[in-house]
Amino acid sequence: MKTPSADDLSAWFRCAEGCDFRAPLTEVIYRCPRCQGLLEVEHDLDALRGRSAAEWKALFEGRFRGGNWPFGSGVWGKKEWVYPQLAVENVVSMYEGGTPLIRLDRYASEIGLQDVWLKECGVTHTGSFKDLGMTVLVSAVKEMRARGVPIRAVACASTGDTSAALAAYCAASGIPSVVLLPRGKVSTAQLVQPVSNGALVLELDTDFDGCMRVVQDLSRTPEIYLANSMNSLRIEGQKTVAVEVVQQLGWTSPDWVIIPGGNLGNAGALGKGFLMLRDLGLVDRLPRLVVAQAENANPLYRAVKAAGRAAADVPVESIQARTTLASAIQIGAPVSAKRALRAIEALDGLVEQASEQELADAAARADLSGAFACPHTGVALAALEKLSARGVIRPSERVVVISTAHGLKFSDFKVGYHEGTLPGLAPALRNPPVRLPATLAAVQDAVAARFGAR
Ligand SMILES: *Cc1c(COP(=O)(O)O)cnc(C)c1O
Ligand SMILES: [Zn+2]
Repeated sequence: MKTPSADDLSAWFRCAEGCDFRAPLTEVIYRCPRCQGLLEVEHDLDALRGRSAAEWKALFEGRFRGGNWPFGSGVWGKKEWVYPQLAVENVVSMYEGGTPLIRLDRYASEIGLQDVWLKECGVTHTGSFKDLGMTVLVSAVKEMRARGVPIRAVACASTGDTSAALAAYCAASGIPSVVLLPRGKVSTAQLVQPVSNGALVLELDTDFDGCMRVVQDLSRTPEIYLANSMNSLRIEGQKTVAVEVVQQLGWTSPDWVIIPGGNLGNAGALGKGFLMLRDLGLVDRLPRLVVAQAENANPLYRAVKAAGRAAADVPVESIQARTTLASAIQIGAPVSAKRALRAIEALDGLVEQASEQELADAAARADLSGAFACPHTGVALAALEKLSARGVIRPSERVVVISTAHGLKFSDFKVGYHEGTLPGLAPALRNPPVRLPATLAAVQDAVAARFGAR
């Protein structure tokens, strides 16, 4: 059989609501003009079947983290599954992806499990999984501009990490970027990233949902390209996490994958990745998907609870999101709720929530076993702990928790936890630094107090 080259393969936008609208990936378009549904990128699966599962595995493994630019990137190593017809010279990559999958044995045994892994998507250029989607979106913009599409700037509303990724990839390719942030609601690290990368940083007196409304209006002109996750190009990069996880587990699916969800694009992306792996024969079974939300920003959890089931037709009502330590998922009107519900339905999934106390303690518990979990990862870990305690996840089952950002981006959360200054929280696992005079006796006393006298 002839092995397909990138030239034979193609992908296009299609209406995700099932009407037969299609558009090329080089068109400036975010919604179906017929039904206003979100778009998704559709691939020619029959053409992709021109390579066998074994050939795909060998191709992906051969490129993984290697030096053949840009195919050593975790995203562009799977270019045929992401954006096959994109010209390689238009790829804007910071070698995103290829992140560690680490086993948390001590943490697992503490919560009564045996086989828990953390996929560290935050160990990447700007410190969050947003790099995976942004490399695809900014590369697509570069390709459009090269073809004469008059895009002046790329814009996004952000809870912090999206703007950091957008600013970095735009700076790397010389494309202007505009980011709209809710004033006072993003961490210092998140704010300083787009500032450093030269974005036009606009702090608005509102929350994320308010920023989102403004940026949608701003991008009504095709000259301002919208980078939010309603833009389905980002989903294509983010879905490669599923391929990496499966590859890192020796081409097998785990029993469960747990992911924190805010705007819910990433949950949909993960589901899409696993379905593609199954449809192309790289795995024979799907994991079950858990979407974990902060109790203070839980529109999906409420919707599924009210309906008594998780399916694509469950209506998700917007809520006013309350303040949560998991600031990147403080979202009351998730744009991609339907994408997530479709993924949950296809992957026999469920939705769990975590209180502020639960997410903070879960992050601290994982840290004490060597992790350094951001608060969103804390939400996913808390969901794992609750599902394990309820017997839904059984001790021998293999679980992969998706860590969405690097803990270092949220040092205020970490410091506040251990200093005991987070409002309303009683940190059960505090480990504050001990202040001492500079004497041997004082230090020996402190050591004895912690570990017992010799
Ligand atoms: C964006 C983000 C999320 C949520 O992803 P969605 O696709 O909006 O659900 C979770 N954690 C972190 C750290 C993020 O930056
Ligand atoms: Zn449509």
